[in-house]
Amino acid sequence: MERDWAKRAGIGWIGKNTLLIHPKAGSYFFLAELIIDLELEPDGPMKDYCGDCRRCIDACPTEAISPQGYLLDASKCISYLTIELKDAIPESFRGKMDNWMFGCDVCQEVCPWNRFSTPHNEPAFEPQPELLAMTRRDWEELTEEVFGKVFQGSAVKRAGYQGLKRNIRFLVEKLKS
Ligand code: SF4
Ligand code: SF4
Repeated sequence: MERDWAKRAGIGWIGKNTLLIHPKAGSYFFLAELIIDLELEPDGPMKDYCGDCRRCIDACPTEAISPQGYLLDASKCISYLTIELKDAIPESFRGKMDNWMFGCDVCQEVCPWNRFSTPHNEPAFEPQPELLAMTRRDWEELTEEVFGKVFQGSAVKRAGYQGLKRNIRFLVEKLKS
């Protein structure tokens, strides 16, 4: 796992939300690696700066992070439920999804170290204008054609049209009940 190699390489520490945190960049960044044959002196691991903070644990909508942190039950995480799970979302999560239809960033949004994160400047990461203009009704009536257009080249394709429809239905049914 890249995250663990990054920890060993001293890039950051693994926080209670189980994400790699860089003290000057928070956790909103991609990890990458170079495979080379140079002999390099490795940096040592970094100290853990989570301290007494437990914002991510307290804010997680589904209590996916263990009470002490550093351990995450992936089967309770909204990112897993809305992206990786192929079956129906279990009823026990109804009303707990905070309206997330693809992934969840709560444990990063609340992390104080992300005040040091900076916006990207990669045009390819910008959402399609049509996506930003979508209304709640548009989401509820999302067609495969619109899905293909607004999520062209997007990681949302990982969930697929049927997967996203399932997620939206799950949220809407919650709102109506
Ligand atoms: S991504 Fe959301 S659901 Fe998953 S652990 Fe973080 S806060 Fe909890
Ligand atoms: S929110 Fe607090 S406890 Fe959680 S990862 Fe960030 S600093 Fe650590």
